[in-house]
Amino acid sequence: MDKQKLEHYRTLLETRRHRLRDSVARTEEDGRAAQATDSAQDIADRASSSYQKEFLFARSNNDRQFLQMVEHALSSIAEGTYGECEQCGNEINERRLEAIPWARHCISCQEKIERGELEQQAQEN
Ligand SMILES: [Zn+2]
Repeated sequence: MDKQKLEHYRTLLETRRHRLRDSVARTEEDGRAAQATDSAQDIADRASSSYQKEFLFARSNNDRQFLQMVEHALSSIAEGTYGECEQCGNEINERRLEAIPWARHCISCQEKIERGELEQQAQEN
């Protein structure tokens, strides 16, 4: 992949990383706020706030996982392996990278993973 394209994907990934870090930080704050109000609530309120906490927890886990994929893609740019399928080593289609710049597998490997034909557990889309 040429330098210009790599720079393009790097910019996309860095923008995404920035937003994800923001979102993770905000979710953590929301979680702390939900915890702080807990003690002064009746049982019904407490139930809904623990539901909300679970929701926040799930959201922050998703963001974290996503953030990891983005970090991984950025380090593969640094290592010079960006855009290669981790399964078969072929180049990942550029239209796919344009839509999912953190993609680790080419379309055909990704489809096999989703059909359960490959061992690897990857959730990209
Ligand atoms: Zn592949």
